Amino acid sequence: MLLHVPSLLIAAAVAGACVSTSHLLIWRGVRNEISVPLWGVAYGLCTLAMVMVGLRGVIPGFLSIVVSNALLLVAVGLVWFGYRRFIGKIGRHDRFLALLGGLAWLAFACHHKLFADINLRTHAVSVAQSVYLLAIIRDLVEHRRKEPLPSLSLTVAAIAVQQALLIARTIHLLIYPLDANTDTLPSGTPVVLTLIGSIGFVVFLGLLQFALVGQRSERRFRVAAETDGLTGLANRRRFLGEVLSHLESSPARGAMILFDLDHFKSVNDTHGHLTGDRALVEFANILAMATPQRAVAARIGGEEFALFLPDGNAATAAALAEDIRRLTQAFALSTASGQLRITVSIGVADVAEVGSNYETLHGAADVALYKAKSDGRDRIAVYRREPAPKQITAKRGEIAQLVSATA
Ligand code: GH3
Ligand code: MG
Ligand code: MG
Repeated sequence: MLLHVPSLLIAAAVAGACVSTSHLLIWRGVRNEISVPLWGVAYGLCTLAMVMVGLRGVIPGFLSIVVSNALLLVAVGLVWFGYRRFIGKIGRHDRFLALLGGLAWLAFACHHKLFADINLRTHAVSVAQSVYLLAIIRDLVEHRRKEPLPSLSLTVAAIAVQQALLIARTIHLLIYPLDANTDTLPSGTPVVLTLIGSIGFVVFLGLLQFALVGQRSERRFRVAAETDGLTGLANRRRFLGEVLSHLESSPARGAMILFDLDHFKSVNDTHGHLTGDRALVEFANILAMATPQRAVAARIGGEEFALFLPDGNAATAAALAEDIRRLTQAFALSTASGQLRITVSIGVADVAEVGSNYETLHGAADVALYKAKSDGRDRIAVYRREPAPKQITAKRGEIAQLVSATA
């Protein structure tokens, strides 16, 4: 045999020790990620288990068989627990479940007759490992939708490959069982291949865990840089980015709606700035609730908001704007100085009408908004390029067909 199994076990132990140490060192910089030290400890236990298995025949069988595999299963349980913490899915019994594999193994060890068979022992370890690995895959696949970190998919793939190796090893062992009563370290090509696979898995999973932590923090910074701190809506920068990319890919469609809360200065003056802030948050909630799936809602200025409908036109945008206007008008905010009601003026511009240049589109919606304000506020105006036969000035609740040549 070209490769010596105890040497490979030492290589696995060294790999585990390196990953464990780097996790524990890296944790100094990411104290909020409790999964990092959990994974570090798991790799430490895995290292110890490998050393003990490698010393088969040198140390007592109890340590090399019973304790080593218990440590290995606790390590896999901790890896699972670490991923649960990482994705923020915390169950009441998770701590116990993380230890359950190791405990079940110790219980199995008490059944001397079955435990004496190396084939059954190997199957038992494989089954316990598989349960944890499959549970990690399920959790990560579910989590990907919430937090789409690129390394999540790679982690799922790596674990799936390791799981496939476990299945292959189990099938091989069923077809070619080992001498049931042997206590010596198994050798041969399948064992060597499994060990090499495991070393690769340990190192790759460790690197992916670093990548996950890094990608999460990068994503959080990016999201924070594109989110309005007060309302949680997209900020002007993200709005601009998303609208520009839409206009580039589909220059023929879309509608922009601009909102400006009415007499907001007097809201602050009468009720105080903090109540003004609460009103902004409430309006943002109304806007977010009314925003269709592919649309982008944003706070683009102090009391100015915007909505871009990639599939909208002047009519659908005006209808949606009217819903938002009504909801805003109907809303009452309880304050120390009584009920606060707010209204909003709205300007609509259609890409089909003004073209796909962002500046022109925004300018047209702004002209319409100005019209809604000057017509008395709490209303909607839609920008029209061509002079309409007759300019209609909207009453409250109606939509003005705006005539303008300036946008
Ligand atoms: P109009 O109907 O013409 O829009 O009147 P307005 O008072 O809303 O318009 P103006 O532009 O004069 O005032 C906007 C006000 O919005 C002034 C500013 O204090 C307030 N504002 C801007 N940002 C915030 C904020 O983050 N929180 C609070 N509470 N108020 C804000
Ligand atoms: Mg304003
Ligand atoms: Mg205003």
